[in-house]
Formats: sequence, C-alpha cells, structure tokens
Amino acid sequence: MKSLITRRKSLLVAASAALALSLSACGGGSTTTPPVASASFEAGTTMEKLNKAQTIKIGTKFDQPLFGQKGLDGKPVGFDVEMGKAIAAKLGIPADKIEWVETVSQNRESFIEQGRVDLVIATYTINDARKEKVAFAGPYYEAGQALLVNKDDTSITKPEDVSGKKVCSVTGSTPAKTIAEKYGAEVVPAATYTACLEPLRNKQVVAVTTDNVILAGYVDKEPDAFKLASDETFTKEPYGIGLKKDDTVFRNWINDQLEGFAKDDTYKKAWEATAGKVIKTAPELPAINRY
Ligand code: GLU
Repeated sequence: MKSLITRRKSLLVAASAALALSLSACGGGSTTTPPVASASFEAGTTMEKLNKAQTIKIGTKFDQPLFGQKGLDGKPVGFDVEMGKAIAAKLGIPADKIEWVETVSQNRESFIEQGRVDLVIATYTINDARKEKVAFAGPYYEAGQALLVNKDDTSITKPEDVSGKKVCSVTGSTPAKTIAEKYGAEVVPAATYTACLEPLRNKQVVAVTTDNVILAGYVDKEPDAFKLASDETFTKEPYGIGLKKDDTVFRNWINDQLEGFAKDDTYKKAWEATAGKVIKTAPELPAINRY
C-alpha cells in the first residue's frame, strides 16, 4: 500500500461537518461479518417472508469504489454492501445467501416497483420525486454533490464554472439534474459514473459530477489523473435504503435496525472496513426520517 499522498478537508455544506479525505492508492475493500440473528417475525410481514426464504435480493452499484464495487471474486464490497449484509443478518440471512443485483442510477425505482430487488442500497438520494414511487428507510449517510476534473485543470473550482460547458453525469441521478437545471451545464449522459472517466480524461467533457464520496473513490484509484475541483459540496444527498412504497412495516423495521447499528458499532465497523479507508472522518448516523 502506498503511503498517504494527499490530505484534504472538505466541508459538507449540509451538515457543515468537516469531511477529511485522505487519499491513498488502495482502500475500500475489506468486509465485516455481522452475526446472523436467530430472528422470528410476525406472520405476513416482509421480514417473515425473507427470513423463511433464507435469501434476499439487494440492488447495489457494481462500479463505485468505497460504496459498491464488484471484485474479481464476483462479490461486491463497500459501505452500501456492508449495510445490506448487516440488515440481512438481522433478518436471519447470512451474507452468502444475499443475491446482489446491479442497479444503476436510472433503474432503481423500477427494479423496486417490479420486485426485481427487495431493497436498493446504492448511493441512493432520498427525495420527494422518488418517494412518489418507492419508500426510503434512513438516511444512513449524507453526501453532497461535487465536481471531478483532470488533475492539471485549475479553471474549475465551483459549479458556476461549468455553465455552458460539457459535463458528464449519469442519467436518472440527482447531480445530473442539478448541474443542468441550476448551473446551466450541458450534461453528457452516461449509464454509470465509470463510463464518464474516459470522456473526462480525453477532454471531451470538462468535468464529471456526482456525490463527493463517489468521486473520492475515483480519485483514490487514479490520483495522478483526477482531482476534486474543490473540497466544498453544493447539495445535500442523504442516502436512503429503497424499498416498496407501501411497505411501512418493513421500512420502520429497517429504521430500527439502522439505529441499532449506530449503538452497537456495526455502523462504525462497516465504515472503517470500507469507505473509511479513504475518507478519514467517520460519519455519525444521521437522524432517521420516519415519515
Ligand atoms: N446520490 C445521487 C443519486 O441518487 C447520485 C449518485 C447516484 O447516481 O447513485 O442520484
């Protein structure tokens, strides 16, 4: 492992909390093994159904370092993955019985609505438009939007600097909408953030935009090629766990588990094993939004 090469402080506009990004050449890849509960649940609940089935389908990203990235062994790793494993364990389902399904930004609502997944844990911002279609437990983390630029670029430091310029982002994501509608950028759409990296390197776009913690994962992998345009973020992106819109009992139960993870250190350990290898300021579980 290379030693730390950069140390940055980033103010999350949302929480005004300092987020220190300590970028190293490797990181974000280990896992924890939450103890599997011998749980029993009320008849007719989703918890009972999943516990009986002894399997759960969880949608996550497969190409986002630190949160959800599929390794060579075919298994995804990251903070979102750890949250999924911890919830499955509380349902009495061991990690090797989880069926991981790749979800990209655009198909998360439809995959939940169609029952192709039981949950989505995929850097998934809670917002009212999405709540028309799905429900959210959480938030379990709060990110904020930022810009990724080429390492040698000093012309872009804030979102206003990309007005009228080509910026790559992902279809169906909140950052794509914000950078176009609020800051007047010309969005070059891609299906995943990874697909934005070559256009940035080739200067077909001037920046890639999404959540700071996603971009931090790409900088960590290629510190000589890319950097964050600024340590400041310019939106609040509270991450929720997506599930069927009307399943209030399951949503409340997941919220209870998240609060439990903050108390028993599951949350802290999940962070330290994954995103915490690169993002050195450990988060607190945000206040759960029980709507
Ligand atoms: N958190 C934002 C969203 O849910 C951006 C990251 C993503 O596309 O997954 O749209």
